[in-house]
Amino acid sequence: MLTFFILENLNKNTFEIAMLAILNLIKNSNLLGKSQKELNDLKAKKGFYIISEDYKIYKNSLYVQNDILFFIAKIKQKKLLYLTSKISFNSDFKGEYQELGGIFIQLVELNHKNSKVLQKHFPFTSPISLREKKTTFGCGDRLGLATPGHIRAALKYDVYPVLAQQSIRELNLTQRNYDQVISDVVFSVFQEGFERGFGADGDHLKSIEDINIALEAGMPMITLDLSDVINIDTSSWSEEKINNEFEKIENNEKNRILEAYSNKTFQVGKYNIVIDSLEAKRCLLLYQNALNFAQTVDLHLRKHQNDKYDLEISIDETITPTLPSHHIFIIKELIHRNISVTSLAPKFIGEFQKGIDYIGEIAEFEKHFKLHSEIAKEHGNYKISVHSGSDKFKVYPMIGKYTHQNFHVKTAGTNWLEALRCIAICNPKLYRKIHKRALEYYEEALRYYHVTADISKIKNVDEVNDEELPYYLDKNESRQVLHITYGGVLNDPTIKESFYDTLNKYEEMYYELINNHISKHMESLGIKKL
Ligand code: ZN
Repeated sequence: MLTFFILENLNKNTFEIAMLAILNLIKNSNLLGKSQKELNDLKAKKGFYIISEDYKIYKNSLYVQNDILFFIAKIKQKKLLYLTSKISFNSDFKGEYQELGGIFIQLVELNHKNSKVLQKHFPFTSPISLREKKTTFGCGDRLGLATPGHIRAALKYDVYPVLAQQSIRELNLTQRNYDQVISDVVFSVFQEGFERGFGADGDHLKSIEDINIALEAGMPMITLDLSDVINIDTSSWSEEKINNEFEKIENNEKNRILEAYSNKTFQVGKYNIVIDSLEAKRCLLLYQNALNFAQTVDLHLRKHQNDKYDLEISIDETITPTLPSHHIFIIKELIHRNISVTSLAPKFIGEFQKGIDYIGEIAEFEKHFKLHSEIAKEHGNYKISVHSGSDKFKVYPMIGKYTHQNFHVKTAGTNWLEALRCIAICNPKLYRKIHKRALEYYEEALRYYHVTADISKIKNVDEVNDEELPYYLDKNESRQVLHITYGGVLNDPTIKESFYDTLNKYEEMYYELINNHISKHMESLGIKKL
């Protein structure tokens, strides 16, 4: 008699039937005893994916190691990692072990502990530093479900995806932690058999404590948000005040700054950028604390990771766009402090609001962006990073062109909108509920996100047919409301469970929606197709 204690929530009978079907399939297709090469040939073939509505093997997860066949399968909406073999075995995974009709089998829950073990066996499931990689693309996934869709898009392009990418704000709003974020990605990478390598980004971190949490979880990329340590008041100080404050700085440092920047001309491409004496002083007062903190963080990262880390410097959470002269000052000072900068996120001209296209003068943006790209090229060739980078189709071609593909673009909530599109198509009733909850929660969400949607333009959901519901995901106003209210929606106990159930059930549709949407981004950025 079979008993799988870890599967309490499932009907044991139907689970056993499905389980036996999977074992039969393994037997009939002689999967046990096949070499990795033979398994790879099988993966390349069409079909052999979904066995039935109720259960399936993810064929790209077929791996063999020491006579043990590994794969992820889903039975009755429950995904597990399976270890199977003709001979009895021990494993370091936690999970029930049985012999069934001559096959030894272990059922492994997809939890954090087991993800660590999987990483030991299959190093390609561990995030890596992408410092040496030219084109990188951030795919934040707040749900822990979107990664296979991201992978399917990335597979087609010459790009390294950052598959785990969350800020503390997002973790709080979704009630997840970095360990979960990483282990969800680890199993998705295994499910899709994605061996190219990927990054993991502790996004918008502001303190050593938070950085440590991300590092402990195994995230090699840290996006250091300097907004709290930039002395923003300096921007409005009078000449007199700047001179007075600058005088208080230690002599050597004062002289060094004046010598390096005061009334100096910096050639950037065909442009000359001049920093006058007042601006040189202002820059130091404005950025000194931030630069020193960046140095502390960089030393900390080096100690922890050797050189296996990616430090992104983020100065994008400011009100005014980053002046090219300030960009020059900052990068020269970062280099002076021996800080390894993998990427830098300036604040660009115009608006990069969540979920919608670029707002602003395209020609202005082009000029501004080109200068920032040239500065990056001339000072160590770090990547220019574009935050809130989803759905900015008007400016992607310029980003691709002026950086010569040496860029990082971050997207986060756009896969959430695709999840809602999937729900609008597959579960209209649930969509209606989410839609209403999002509108109720909008005011509160505006405390965390800056968007300017005119919600009076959103059609009343009660007056719309089911077939028209997906259009809410195409209109700017509703996109923005739905984009920023994920916290309120997900934390509603009457929504959460059916939300996850629906996406689980229709995951293939969800993956394809993301794949399509993210592929459009990559195409428009001009990333080379493989
Ligand atoms: Zn940012």
